[in-house]
Amino acid sequence: MIFDLHVHTSSSPCSRLLVEDILIHAVKKGLDGVCITDHQTMDIRHTGIREGVQEDGLLVIFGMEYETSDGDFLIFGPFEEIQTNFPARKLLNYVKEHDGVAIAAHPFRTGRSVKEYVIRQNLCGIIESVNGRNSDSDNREVKRWTSGFDLVQTGGSDAHSLEELGKIKTDVLGKIKCRNSFIRALKDGNVKIIGL
Ligand SMILES: [Zn+2]
Ligand SMILES: [Zn+2]
Repeated sequence: MIFDLHVHTSSSPCSRLLVEDILIHAVKKGLDGVCITDHQTMDIRHTGIREGVQEDGLLVIFGMEYETSDGDFLIFGPFEEIQTNFPARKLLNYVKEHDGVAIAAHPFRTGRSVKEYVIRQNLCGIIESVNGRNSDSDNREVKRWTSGFDLVQTGGSDAHSLEELGKIKTDVLGKIKCRNSFIRALKDGNVKIIGL
């Protein structure tokens, strides 16, 4: 199933992408699934949209982009009420203990990079190697990491507007019907970035 794994709605202060527009346009943009990953919140669940398969077949998964001083992480799991001030190591252990999954988001973005110990110590085995906002130097550094470590790679648009939605797509393999089967596929490494 073709996903955009990294999408911000207007529940993120920096995004002007409306949930209604995601629901109207996602399938037309070639997506079977969209992950809502607002900054530090899963408040999307209070906006009237239902997680799961929509009437037109689009699968919507709720997650979060969690900010730490050692990097930002896309997290998926039972994290509706998670504290938002964990340091990276504590967050990643918490995610593991609660059967969730974490992706190191845009690991080489200036000012928001993921510290290398997180990867070296295997605290997070999945990196977002393609991000809709990556620069050429980000991409070079991604290559360095992916050749040096055994990592699962994902891509996502990091959309903050409708134009960006679906710009980067990832194939999530297998029968994905809900948040749990999505998490399982990621943990098993059953993902492939389209075009990579
Ligand atoms: Zn943002
Ligand atoms: Zn983001």
